[in-house]
Amino acid sequence: MRVLRRGDGGPAVAEVRSTLAALGLLPPAQGVLESGQFDQGMENAVRTFQQQRGLITDGLIGPATYRALRDATHQLGGRPLAYMVSAPITGDDVVTLQERLLELGYDAGRPNGVFGAQTEAALRNFQRDYGLTIDGICGPETVRALRQLSPRARGGRPVLLREQERVRRSGPRLRGKRIVIDPGHGGADLGVSVRGVNESDLMWDLARRLEGRMVATGMEALLSRGPDQCPEEADRAQFANEAGADLVLSLHCDANRSPYAQGVASFHFGTGNGAWSTLGEAMAGLIQRELAMRTGLRDCGAHPKTWEMLRLTRCTAVRIEIGYLTNDDDRRRLSDPAFRDIVAEGIVVAVKRLYLLGENDQPTGSFTFADVLAHELAKAE
Ligand SMILES: [Zn+2]
Repeated sequence: MRVLRRGDGGPAVAEVRSTLAALGLLPPAQGVLESGQFDQGMENAVRTFQQQRGLITDGLIGPATYRALRDATHQLGGRPLAYMVSAPITGDDVVTLQERLLELGYDAGRPNGVFGAQTEAALRNFQRDYGLTIDGICGPETVRALRQLSPRARGGRPVLLREQERVRRSGPRLRGKRIVIDPGHGGADLGVSVRGVNESDLMWDLARRLEGRMVATGMEALLSRGPDQCPEEADRAQFANEAGADLVLSLHCDANRSPYAQGVASFHFGTGNGAWSTLGEAMAGLIQRELAMRTGLRDCGAHPKTWEMLRLTRCTAVRIEIGYLTNDDDRRRLSDPAFRDIVAEGIVVAVKRLYLLGENDQPTGSFTFADVLAHELAKAE
C-alpha cells in the first residue's frame, strides 16, 4: 500500500477518516470535500491513535498504522472468531477475548490480538468447562457466556506469571539458556544512517560481540539475521518462537530531528490496559541500569510498547535503542569498537542479573564479565 500523509486525498483517505471518526478521535467529516482530505486535524487524530497503540507517532498512515486501525474497528461479538491456520484473525475483539479468558484463568497466551493455536486451546477448555459447544469458535453463544461470567480473580495474568515462573525454575545458571540476538535492519535497510555511520552495521557488530560473550558463558546465542539480510519483524519473532528462545534482545539505535536528543532506552511488552510482561520490564530495567552506569549514555528509561517483536514473541523480549546516531556524542561513542565491547558486557551482566533474580546482588556497574564467568564456573562444579 502507498503511505498516506498530510496533503493527500482520495478514497483511501476517506476510509481512514471514517475509521478515526468511528473511534471517536475525529469529528465526522463535513461533506464530501472534507471527507477525502488528509488535513492537520486528521494528522493530529492519527498521532493520538498511534500514541494510544504504542506505535511510532509520525502522523503517517503506513502499513503498521493501517493494520492497527483495521484491528481497532473490531469489537467482541461483531464477527465469529476462530483459528485460521494460514491467515490468523487479528483485531481488538481478539484482545478482548484473550484478556477475558486470562481473567477467567485460561491460558490464552499473551493478549496480542492474534487468534492462534493457544487462544483456540484456551477457548475450547473454557467451552468444555462451561457446557458450551466445544468447537473452538467464538460465536454468539460463547460471547454471551463470557459476558455473563465475573472473573474469578482480577489482576493475576496467568500467562505473564507463568513466564516469570519458568525463568525462576530455570535457575540462575546461564549455561543452556537460549538467547536470540536480533540486530535491527540489515541488507538494503541501513536503519538510521548519519555521515556514513549506519545503524544496521553497528548493531550487526554489537550482536557479534554479544554473541561471543554469551557463548563464552555457556549460553546458546542465535542471531535473527545474517549480515546482509533484513527479515520482517514478524519473521524475526517467529524465528525466536521456533527456536524456543528464553530471551530475545533486539538491538537498535535511535534518531531524532533534534541533534540534542541522546541516550539509551529499553522497551518491553505492555499495553495501556494492563497486560504487561513483568520479566520484560525487569530485563529492560536491568539493561538500563547497567548501560547508563557503564557507558555514560543518558538514561532514557524503560517503557512498555506493543511493537511486533515484543508482542509476537512468546518469551521475554526487550528492544534496546542504544544512543542517537543524530547526536554527535552518541555517534562518536558508538563508532568506537571498545565502546561497543562495554555495551556488550553491560548487556551480558544484565542478563545474568535477570536469572539471578536478586540473588548474589552486587552494585550496578561493579559486576564484571569476569565475575559472570567465575560464577558460571563455580555453579558448574
Ligand atoms: Zn532501528
